[in-house]
Amino acid sequence: MTIALLAALLIAPTGEAYTMMQNDYGAGLYWRQMPIKFSVNPENPFGLTEDEVEDAVLTAAESWETVGAAIEFEYLGFTDTRDMGFDQENVIYFSDEWDQGDSKAAMTYNWTTEDGAIVSFDVGINANGFEWTVDELDPVMDIENVMAHELGHVLGLGHSDIDDLATMWESTSSGELIKRSLRPDDENGLLANYGADVPMGLACSSAGGNTGSGLGWLVGMAAAGLCLQRRRRQD
Ligand SMILES: [Zn+2]
Repeated sequence: MTIALLAALLIAPTGEAYTMMQNDYGAGLYWRQMPIKFSVNPENPFGLTEDEVEDAVLTAAESWETVGAAIEFEYLGFTDTRDMGFDQENVIYFSDEWDQGDSKAAMTYNWTTEDGAIVSFDVGINANGFEWTVDELDPVMDIENVMAHELGHVLGLGHSDIDDLATMWESTSSGELIKRSLRPDDENGLLANYGADVPMGLACSSAGGNTGSGLGWLVGMAAAGLCLQRRRRQD
């Protein structure tokens, strides 16, 4: 079964096995500002405790943080929010009203500026079509396994083209745990996206250029604000 493809975003080969996500303008997606803040809504129909859900998500985030790329997550705690939307709150939640396709186990939604800067995200977990666990011996969908994949999308990575053991491989299955562990291909993708300096001279997105195309497309005042706060990062 397929894990979520990014809605409204195109994925382009880079010549490596890993791929980067691009927006409709052809700009690669990445976070310009760190840390990437997020909250977790642990409410679920599977009998998993708040701590179990939290631990699975945070462990997945830590896998990416320990690569050595210039990224950082900041966990803000629990939230009651459980819907997708550009609302300044980045939430990972179980959806019991899943409408993103029966084969999709989870879906990452990124909002970006025209030049590819991700400014917000949500991750929905399909609680209708799949059963979820944090138990390695339980042959259903493993939260950490899938969250490692979805957080790769959150970071702007697309699907790996050739490494079917990669976290960013495009499909998963019940009981699978291999995506918990990043492969060199995943790490190379992250380093390619964040290891290099962010050019200071990059033109700011033009404020007010809202095209409204695609899912939650954001170009406008928020983009201008981001330009003002952009700073140089180094690996
Ligand atoms: Zn995916």
